[in-house]
Amino acid sequence: MTPDLSAEERAFQNEVRSFLADWRDLDGFHFQGRRWPRVKEFFRAVGRRGWLAVGWPQDAGGLGKGPAHEFILWDECAYGRIARPPLGAGIVAKTIIRYGTDAQRERWLPLIRSGEIHFSLGYSEPEAGSDLSSVRTRAERRGDAYIVQGQKCWTSYAQDSDFLWLLCRTGAQESRGEGLTLLIVDLHASGVRVAPLPTLDDEQLNEVTLDEVQVPVENRIGLENGAWKMMNEALAVERHVQFPPGRVRRDLEDLVELVRMRGLASDPHARIVVADLAVEVQEAEMHALRVLEAVEKGRSSAVEAAANKISHTQVCQRIARAAFELGGVDILVRGTSLEFLWRQSTWETIGGGTSEVMRGVVARQGLGLAGRR
Ligand SMILES: Cc1cc2nc3c(=O)[nH]c(=O)nc-3n(C[C@H](O)[C@H](O)[C@H](O)COP(=O)(O)OP(=O)(O)OC[C@H]3O[C@@H](n4cnc5c(N)ncnc54)[C@H](O)[C@@H]3O)c2cc1C
Repeated sequence: MTPDLSAEERAFQNEVRSFLADWRDLDGFHFQGRRWPRVKEFFRAVGRRGWLAVGWPQDAGGLGKGPAHEFILWDECAYGRIARPPLGAGIVAKTIIRYGTDAQRERWLPLIRSGEIHFSLGYSEPEAGSDLSSVRTRAERRGDAYIVQGQKCWTSYAQDSDFLWLLCRTGAQESRGEGLTLLIVDLHASGVRVAPLPTLDDEQLNEVTLDEVQVPVENRIGLENGAWKMMNEALAVERHVQFPPGRVRRDLEDLVELVRMRGLASDPHARIVVADLAVEVQEAEMHALRVLEAVEKGRSSAVEAAANKISHTQVCQRIARAAFELGGVDILVRGTSLEFLWRQSTWETIGGGTSEVMRGVVARQGLGLAGRR
């Protein structure tokens, strides 16, 4: 399925494809940690073209293009397995553009737009993942600084990032979502410790411990206790670039290649399995385009994004598992790309919100079925 691109969007897609031709061997989509110096170089090259800010408004230093340009860029990067969109240029920058002060916009946006600085997302904690209103990491204001104490976990890319986009508690614990604040924390500040948590795909997540870390008040984005609304809005304006369908199109191509290599191209069972998966990939693509449409029209995209996440991550896992069914266990021994996908795809149904939570969103907000949050 191909979205109906305008002539300008089609030209942009062609420009992106020819730019990416030089980066095909990067493999930063799955191995950002292992390839970090070159991935950072890639982000700088994207930044030099202005594309890290392709969707930002022009008065914030962006190119002022619509979400479709962002979708095209990151979908092509997913198909090429080149890189995932950096958090700084998305959630962080868009929140600063909307809620930051002039001084904060001047300080942070040029460095993010050029790919010079990178952020990790410090939301999850040992006792707060799906339910972020339970966050316990505390920030106490003392004069011109907040003193932060707590622990974050499953923090992607913290080992290479410069700053943590920290969700922390400034109100009483019972205030739940109403008592949370967003701070930008220097990951190299005194009292910050980043410890690796190895993952099944040979990459790493991190545990970030914050022990009496001093964060200047000027690093608070938006109001104290005002994080909840900003956090939800930031997710809403970034959903169209998460879980791009290019990723599953490419995985399916690997499976088709395996089927050919194994001499199974005429095997009826293999043909049925691949045809079913091809339909599911098209479904995932359709869901992704529905998210894009909602974001473009400024409508809530929560239900579309939840459906997209379920569809995308399920087909990811099914493609990888079909390879075992059709190719046999020696795929595991030989370490093919499909063997890697089997391990990697296991976490896709957890990171960014679990499938159960996504089903809850579709049930309650999409289908109007009542139930506990
Ligand atoms: C690869 C990866 C990268 C990640 N990167 C980051 C990151 O960079 N920054 C960050 O902050 N976090 C990150 N996370 C954390 C991720 O957001 C959480 O793991 C996820 O939100 C689930 O939270 P949890 O692990 O605490 O599980 P829990 O919330 O404890 O859930 C446990 C189980 O209960 C189920 N459950 C929970 N609530 C409900 C409900 N309301 N209805 C039905 N079932 C429910 C879940 O589906 C799950 O099966 C990452 C996770 C992974 C796997």
